[in-house]
Amino acid sequence: QANFMRVIVQREPEDGMKTGLELLCVVRAVLKKIKRRVLVGDKVVVGSIDWVERRGVIENVFQRSSEIVDPPVANVDRLLVLFSMEQPPVEPFMLTRFLVEAESYRIPLTLALNKTELVDEETLFAWKNRLRSWGYEPVLCSVETKNGLDSLAFYLRDQTTVIVGPSGVGKSSLINVLRSDHRTPDSLEGDNLFDPISGSKWFEDQRVGEVSTRSGRGKHTTRHVSLLPLLGGGYVADTPGFNQPSLLKVTKQSLAQAFPEIRKMLKDSEPAKCSFNDCLHLGEPGCIVKGDWERYPYYFQLLDEIRIREEFQ
Ligand code: GDP
Ligand code: ZN
Repeated sequence: QANFMRVIVQREPEDGMKTGLELLCVVRAVLKKIKRRVLVGDKVVVGSIDWVERRGVIENVFQRSSEIVDPPVANVDRLLVLFSMEQPPVEPFMLTRFLVEAESYRIPLTLALNKTELVDEETLFAWKNRLRSWGYEPVLCSVETKNGLDSLAFYLRDQTTVIVGPSGVGKSSLINVLRSDHRTPDSLEGDNLFDPISGSKWFEDQRVGEVSTRSGRGKHTTRHVSLLPLLGGGYVADTPGFNQPSLLKVTKQSLAQAFPEIRKMLKDSEPAKCSFNDCLHLGEPGCIVKGDWERYPYYFQLLDEIRIREEFQ
């Protein structure tokens, strides 16, 4: 099985003429041996370059600022959780699952509601207030009428964003209106990056643009993640097929931190704390977290789900 990755050149040794070029690369065997998987979004060092054939070999991977598991993307700056008002309507528990998964990565998070033109002002207003009580300020948008797309583009500008959400909410449609067909290389920040293994100072800031896995018979695997350049700069991950949050990285102890409501209650009562260090906020004696908020039953339900998973592992 061979893995080819498309790498976009962002920094090259001599002239700047090759910035933005795409190289088709294989991963150096030694990297595989030390189990350093190259992910979409990784910044890599490329050697053995054939500029004519546009081929190269990925020799090293820079340290990641973040790593998303599902879909597998490295150096993600922002998660955009996208739902729609109708077709399909917002399902609060499903939305909570997506938000919990997104929160667990501890990177900036934007919640957006699409297809706003399908409902009336009152419904929008009610949802906005409801989500505020959950701790979120949603961006309301419509890919259809273009309403709210400017503010979304603002959040996504110059960043690498992963859009998640159930199928049918408009993820692909949104990516299509925001993407650019021209490769715009990232601004060349971070001048002192260098290859941690060889110490070489060239090719320091490249980004893996796309991964495609082929079996020996030349068939593509079904899941295929790629980073697409945005009109305003930055990238968005196109991740078809990833629309079920697995919550695999969320533990019983970390779940509470994924609920802004709980975070706020804990913060507001500082310096007082729950009596037990490992309090799960289920009504233990001396617990600071009250049960009088809308999503408390969801917290309870997810905790149960995680408990069952942990017991079977
Ligand atoms: P995905 O599964 O999340 O990628 O959703 P798609 O982008 O495939 O969109 C699903 C359907 O919703 C398509 O028929 C789109 O044309 C439609 N759609 C996307 N955005 C809007 C919108 O703002 N309003 C309406 N009414 N339909 C939309
Ligand atoms: Zn507690």
